[in-house]
Amino acid sequence: DMSQFWSPIVHDLDPYVPGEQPKVANLVKLNTNENPYGPSPKVLEAIRLGVSDQLRLYPDPNATKLKQAIAEYHQVDIQQVFVGNGSDEVLAHIFHALFQHNAPLLFPDISYSFYPVYCKLYQIDFQTVPLDKNFAINLEDYSTKNSGIIFPNPNAPTGCLLTLKDIELLLKRNTESVIVVDEAYIDFGGESAISLVNNYPNLLVTQTLSKSRSLAGLRIGFAIGHPDLIEALVRVKDSFNSYPLDSLAISAGIASFKDQTYFEQTCQKVMSSRDWLIAELTELGFEVLPSAANFIFAKHPQFDAAELALGLREQGVIVRHFKYDRIDQFLRITIGTQEENQHFLSILDSLV
Ligand SMILES: *Cc1c(COP(=O)(O)O)cnc(C)c1O
Repeated sequence: DMSQFWSPIVHDLDPYVPGEQPKVANLVKLNTNENPYGPSPKVLEAIRLGVSDQLRLYPDPNATKLKQAIAEYHQVDIQQVFVGNGSDEVLAHIFHALFQHNAPLLFPDISYSFYPVYCKLYQIDFQTVPLDKNFAINLEDYSTKNSGIIFPNPNAPTGCLLTLKDIELLLKRNTESVIVVDEAYIDFGGESAISLVNNYPNLLVTQTLSKSRSLAGLRIGFAIGHPDLIEALVRVKDSFNSYPLDSLAISAGIASFKDQTYFEQTCQKVMSSRDWLIAELTELGFEVLPSAANFIFAKHPQFDAAELALGLREQGVIVRHFKYDRIDQFLRITIGTQEENQHFLSILDSLV
């Protein structure tokens, strides 16, 4: 038994379990919130151009040109931008660099299930704050002493959105620790808190190119906030991996921010399909939470969610089901192409 050689902390880890990436073809995959439309053709062209002898060179360790493109797009200074290998890595560095203090980190009880995993890895004490009876985050509940506050907006896996006004009220009350807004899904109808970073130096906003920009396979995420917070992340990054973004990812990321038309068109298509699917599921008797994301969270009062997920799976459609308290009767359904949504719906119709 070679586990005797593990570092003590490894015995205790409780790793994140990502949604299934099936090995068989032809499944309708509505389980991991990927974008159903491919990346912009300009992104693919940038990657093709990057496939050359130049790959022998290390990439720019600071990904300066990508940070420049992000800074321009979001109208902030380049010193306010940090980039990483997916926003999961950016979040890991945030937990490591900013949340290890003498009070618990606060986050919602129903939220991104990676947060408690990072807490274990970095030995951060945390306290979960229950969502209200409508599965919404009530920021007034985040007033206890803390080493930081983090929540996704819109929340995952519920899809519920907070307004900037609510977030600003929290920022006014909580000035002694860092507040992180994880905006993985903000481009599907929400308003970004990036506009608040210049007024609230303890605010850090993370985003990803995995969902709205259809680049989950490339792993690009970023954070925007006060240069001193960014510097903390850079210090951790440069103590861990100097080159988190490869040169193809850097070029592709830049190209994505330059193709606004494609970005807007695909987000718009996802949002229209979402609203259509919510109406159709409601027709079938489902209760659907309001969603500002590229997925919806729904339950049927008469049919068990785990059985529905299994029934769908048997007919080649995968959705996500979480065996957690309070949400084990819900299905999280990623918005697909309109054909996929229709196919999903017709199978569901045969099950309920
Ligand atoms: C998908 C997701 C992420 C991670 O995105 P990557 O950039 O692909 O690592 C972070 N937070 C939430 C809430 C997500 O749903």
